[in-house]
Amino acid sequence: MTLPRVLLHLPALALAGAMVAAPCFTLAQDEPPAAAPNPAAAQPAAPSASSQAQPAYTLPPEKLAKAIALSRIRNILYIAGSLWGLAVLWLLLALCVAAGLERWAGRVFSRRWLQGLLFFAVFLVILFLANLPLDVIGQHFSRVYGISVQSWGSWLADQGKSLGLSLAIGTPVLLLFNRIVRRWPRRYWLGAWIVTLPLLVLSIFVEPLIEPLFNKYEPLSRHDPALVAKLEEVVVRTGTQIPPDRMYLMKASLKTTGLNAYVSGIGATKRIVVWDTTVGRIPDDEIQFVFGHESGHYVLHHIPKMLAGYAVALFFVYWACAGFADWLARRFGPRWRLPEGSPLASRAGFVVLIFAVSVAGFVLQPASNAFSRHFEHQADVYGQEAIHGLVPDPQKTAIAAFNALGEAWLEDPNPSPFIEFWLYNHPSVKTRANFAAHYDPWANGGHGEFFKSQGRRD
Ligand SMILES: [Zn+2]
Repeated sequence: MTLPRVLLHLPALALAGAMVAAPCFTLAQDEPPAAAPNPAAAQPAAPSASSQAQPAYTLPPEKLAKAIALSRIRNILYIAGSLWGLAVLWLLLALCVAAGLERWAGRVFSRRWLQGLLFFAVFLVILFLANLPLDVIGQHFSRVYGISVQSWGSWLADQGKSLGLSLAIGTPVLLLFNRIVRRWPRRYWLGAWIVTLPLLVLSIFVEPLIEPLFNKYEPLSRHDPALVAKLEEVVVRTGTQIPPDRMYLMKASLKTTGLNAYVSGIGATKRIVVWDTTVGRIPDDEIQFVFGHESGHYVLHHIPKMLAGYAVALFFVYWACAGFADWLARRFGPRWRLPEGSPLASRAGFVVLIFAVSVAGFVLQPASNAFSRHFEHQADVYGQEAIHGLVPDPQKTAIAAFNALGEAWLEDPNPSPFIEFWLYNHPSVKTRANFAAHYDPWANGGHGEFFKSQGRRD
């Protein structure tokens, strides 16, 4: 139940452009969609004395132990990965690898743009190799806990494709940003910001075109026409113009046991995708709820709103990062063998800018996640209202869907509030299920927040 994945990576996108964007295209590197990695707070067995405080999301004992252990692993890997990413960039500068690479590229090619392409291509390969061990560990645990069923060969092939995309898209984009810094050494952050905006829209537009490189898609109507008819009921109720030919089934079962559905694309590429692990495993009314949630993202214009929010934020982020990078270059430039004059305009100096933006992405992650959680909560409300009148009990259906989702991904039923605040781009399954259990605006003849009518069938 996610927004386009590329949006969730936006803070990191920033100046580093497609360097970080490209890996988002692979599902393998995504966190479970219901939430970012979970914390490891042990949940005490619910005392039977106060049965009215029964949580809406629970796991059987053997799965609870697994969920807590896996959550701890996911958290450690996630935080270690973020810090390691920053450390790698710092080491490239401090060990003068970046400066050495720039000189080497200068000897290989005489044309400046070819030197740049070579520099950034090698730079991206270094980052890929540096991250690979943590990715391998993540995939290992994903297999151990039965979330991933992907063979190592297939996983490595996905990594290879991911690297290929990163090189094909990231190298020219980095070169473009580097040129902007050269061309406008003082106001480059403004130029970079202006260029980032259309690139963000473009990345959302092309995401559905890139997804088939990693997974097989087929029209949902071919697989399950009865389900399509049920989803059409939701389409009529929500007034979304999502015709059956924009509903796809993704063959996720080749790689994972997790459940998911998501929205993707914009304009002509807009679509809704349901994983084949979801269809047939949870009842159709729960899929209607998931679909209602996804429709909510479209009806409530979450994609343009998130883009607008990020556009405003990135203006200040770029401005601040330019100042930070400038300070770093003055303080460490000679030690990192950056050229004098305008050090940030060099290839190696550009790595300083990427470092500054990566630090900002890390620090601002809680803000970006809070932004995302707000929209996800709205979509939950919308989803529950959308199925009102279509299913006998929207509360029960939503709770059941959240339990199925949480159990499939082994979501911790009791994450620590701090971890939820820092790492979760969705509210925790616990929060979502508890909300669903209490949300009943129709009691006493009321109506929903987004649907003013009762919506009941006569
Ligand atoms: Zn969502």
